[in-house]
Amino acid sequence: MSKEISAFENAKRQIDNVSVLLSNDYSDKTKFAKALKLLKVPQRFLAKKLKVKLSNGKTKTFQVYRSQHNDARGPFKGGIRFHPNVSEDEVKALSTWMSIKCAVTGIPYGGGKGGIIIDPNDYKPADLKKICKAYAEFLAPHIGPWKDVPAPDVNTGGREMAWMLEAYEAKVGYHAPATFTGKPLELGGSLGREEATGQGGFYILEAYSKKKNLKPLKTTVAVQGFGNVGYWFAKLASRAKYKVVAVSDSSGGIYNSTGLDIENLAKLKEKFGSFSNIPKTKGIKLITNSELLELKVDFLVPAALENAIKKDNVKNIQAKVILEMANGPTTPEAEEHLIKKGVDILPDVLCNAGGVTVSYFEWVQNLHGYRWTWVRVNEELKKMMLLAFEDIYKRVKDKKIAYRKSAYSLAIKRIIDAMILRGRV
Ligand code: NAD
Repeated sequence: MSKEISAFENAKRQIDNVSVLLSNDYSDKTKFAKALKLLKVPQRFLAKKLKVKLSNGKTKTFQVYRSQHNDARGPFKGGIRFHPNVSEDEVKALSTWMSIKCAVTGIPYGGGKGGIIIDPNDYKPADLKKICKAYAEFLAPHIGPWKDVPAPDVNTGGREMAWMLEAYEAKVGYHAPATFTGKPLELGGSLGREEATGQGGFYILEAYSKKKNLKPLKTTVAVQGFGNVGYWFAKLASRAKYKVVAVSDSSGGIYNSTGLDIENLAKLKEKFGSFSNIPKTKGIKLITNSELLELKVDFLVPAALENAIKKDNVKNIQAKVILEMANGPTTPEAEEHLIKKGVDILPDVLCNAGGVTVSYFEWVQNLHGYRWTWVRVNEELKKMMLLAFEDIYKRVKDKKIAYRKSAYSLAIKRIIDAMILRGRV
């Protein structure tokens, strides 16, 4: 995302960018224009200065938000972020992108996002629990299994979802586990959630390789980031015999032209704390994160931060395909340059949608009061990811457009169609 425009401005621009492509699909131009206008404003935006009495007896005020972007396709869905940089603009943008992501995968949800301006490292668990409970009580009238289903995001996880669920259920007076996803297994969380995002991305790697007739043994992959997403992606790709030649964490990367042993690297990282601390031995060459991004590989997989591929380094990128596992790893400027060079960019809204897909399965299981096996979760995930890929691929070929444009136009069409069917416009 370029520095001059905010995240939400960027999201609105992305909607405008695909509107030309879609206008022929709608004979009623007035309805189409009205729908586009509505998509550029969240349906509801909640903001409050929340007062919480902490364990030291003092009351502290926190700025909290929830943006409910669009629910034409189903309940709002999206994570809750605890971070000092949370802002109204960011929450609105992220909720818009959630509407897109759910529509791309065909999940029957709209988009939402919440956040609290807080550095959670400054608070003890007892106080974080009070903050979570106060936030859930504030949200209670506006959330629920058929209204808005929050989930974890940056700096929140199963623990926070459990606290919020308890506060929400106390307020409404009955059990409603389908109100939150990303819960601990003991409280109705889904099997397979931990690896879901990496697994979903791996299915996209396989589907794209099949279309292009790429053979795993001859296909090289470099993965930036070795957290939940990067680790699982690299592990699954390497297990399927793709040549994962490089991986990295924030300290730097490891390279081996013949392919890395991902499980062994995970053990070494655990032992030494970071890749840069791993002693140099045969088969281990340390590289910088910049070097990793600029490797001549078939697939470059950014799985760490946003804006990894940008104006400064785009000219040095040699990968044939970018498979985006992080959110927003390629800036619009860099994307333009790469597309002109013939690089395919498989977009984040498709590649990392495995997480929200298994969150959807968690909600389905909770509504049924039934637990799926791990095998079933994975089979259903594969089906949904492949279907989404096929829809996007077909549009790329039919309309001769790039993958992101295909995904966005498909998603926005699905949302607008739902708005029209409901008579909202
Ligand atoms: P994580 O915190 O588990 O891991 C992040 C990894 O990135 C770590 O290995 C860290 O060392 C590395 N990293 C940080 N800065 C780096 C840098 N400058 N260069 C190279 N590596 C760096 O996070 P995660 O859950 O794996 O998420 C990664 C990305 O995927 C984020 O953009 C996130 O928004 C996105 N994502 C995650 C999920 C999910 O289910 N976890 C779902 C959708 C999207």
